[in-house]
Amino acid sequence: MVQSHFPGAISNKDLVTKTVNLLSSKGYDGQNTLLATSLCCDELARQLEDDFNGIYGNNFNLGGLAGFPFAGNTGFGAMSAHIPDDGYCLTVYGPHVGVAADGTVGKVERSGIDLIDTCCGSAVAASNYVDSITNGGRSVTMQIQTFTDFQQNAVQELILPHGKRLADADIDGKRMVELPYALYDSQNMLLSEIVKGGSTGIKRGLALLGGVQINTGPDTPDYFVPLRFDYMNYRGDVIDDLLPALTGSDSDDDSDDDEE
Ligand SMILES: [Zn+2]
Repeated sequence: MVQSHFPGAISNKDLVTKTVNLLSSKGYDGQNTLLATSLCCDELARQLEDDFNGIYGNNFNLGGLAGFPFAGNTGFGAMSAHIPDDGYCLTVYGPHVGVAADGTVGKVERSGIDLIDTCCGSAVAASNYVDSITNGGRSVTMQIQTFTDFQQNAVQELILPHGKRLADADIDGKRMVELPYALYDSQNMLLSEIVKGGSTGIKRGLALLGGVQINTGPDTPDYFVPLRFDYMNYRGDVIDDLLPALTGSDSDDDSDDDEE
């Protein structure tokens, strides 16, 4: 059911196994690697961290609401300074989305709570905000200076450029499927900028694993749709695209020789 909504989704278990194998061929191990994440505040987003923590230890958290890398340039700089000497970093990032047991996208069952509520709540609230502007005539509010809720105000600001894309998906009833992909595009752009700005702090290598995290109910596994798996050298140049090896789509290789 998850894969019918999100083609290419693989279980967290498969994701971790394949990622760890691919990175070990680059020299990554449990001792020389720092795990960094940019995932939502939601406790459901911790599962993916936990699955990688078992291999690489505690993670440096770059993320905030909806998964945006709110720790920014300063957070990335601090994180890269914590990479072991002559060691590596794996950064896992992206938005998350719930899929309920009945197949509803954008909602999920939570342990101890009867109400099957929105997931990601921050993203859905931002989506409603954009919808009220594109369809309801509400005007854009710049409340970024309101420090009691500045992350959510930023999420709403950052999703604004995707108003048309989300409205188009609405026509087919797929707004909640499109929403995490729209968020991913914004987050990927931001994180790429942050990495570029901090690339001199990269030690031996940096792997960026980006995608959409899919949370299901308490008794079923979580999934991940990998959208980017780049390996960068100490200068921040992408020297290997590991995504085909991760997703298994390189079985028909040699048809095109990719060079980075
Ligand atoms: Zn969330």
